[in-house]
Amino acid sequence: SQILLQNTEKLSVAGQLAAGIAHEIRNPITAIKGFIYLMKNGFGDKEEYFKIMSSECERIEGILSELLILAKPQINKLEHSDIQLLLTQIVDLLKTEAIMNNVEIITGFLTEDIHINCDENQMKQVFINFIKNAIEAMNKGGKLTIQTQTRDEEKLMIQFIDEGGGMSEETINKLGQPFYTTKETGTGLGFMISKKIIDNHFGEIHIKSEVNKGTTIEVILPLINETANYLTEDSIN
Ligand code: ADP
Ligand code: MG
Repeated sequence: SQILLQNTEKLSVAGQLAAGIAHEIRNPITAIKGFIYLMKNGFGDKEEYFKIMSSECERIEGILSELLILAKPQINKLEHSDIQLLLTQIVDLLKTEAIMNNVEIITGFLTEDIHINCDENQMKQVFINFIKNAIEAMNKGGKLTIQTQTRDEEKLMIQFIDEGGGMSEETINKLGQPFYTTKETGTGLGFMISKKIIDNHFGEIHIKSEVNKGTTIEVILPLINETANYLTEDSIN
């Protein structure tokens, strides 16, 4: 009955997702069709229409590229990765976006090298989503603190601490449902995908949030255990 239950759950999530995708993609397509009609009949400002049509196309592309991650059933390629280096690369990538939003990113990393077995592209996707969410939550600017700590010598904890608007109880409960967003231009896919990626890496996500104070997202990941690593190599040989 355990297996049956899991299957039903999976089906309903797939059904929910399919309905969501259809809805999310129909909206921009309806808009594009409308503008094509207007242009064909010689109405209005073509330049303006082109702008809107191309931004609607980008919206569809954005949804599809996020969904492609979900289509991959398993982790693609496991690499022995310096996780703090990955984080640094993503912080650098998003620095300009942070500055433009008056957000200061402060990092507090462990001095030793921390290694994790992960699919680097997927892990980067998770970091991008949590950092972007934090920046987007601080519409008046603020500090985003990203810090790492070890737990019980076998786990790594990464914290993303923002000073943004926080989440209501309703949002916390709905977080992770496909297409749940409170943003005008949000996709509502980022958290669900991040959760799936962290699950695939045997990790956990914890959320602490207070309205008008801020949010802390905690990611816990298993560290590469030297013994386990040695055993794996041994069993391969
Ligand atoms: P999106 O960012 O496209 O809205 P997500 O799945 O990344 O989709 O997030 C879903 C919702 O969760 C957001 O719309 C927002 O309401 C809430 N949320 C996520 N992260 C934060 C955060 N750091 N602070 C406040 N709200 C957040
Ligand atoms: Mg997001």
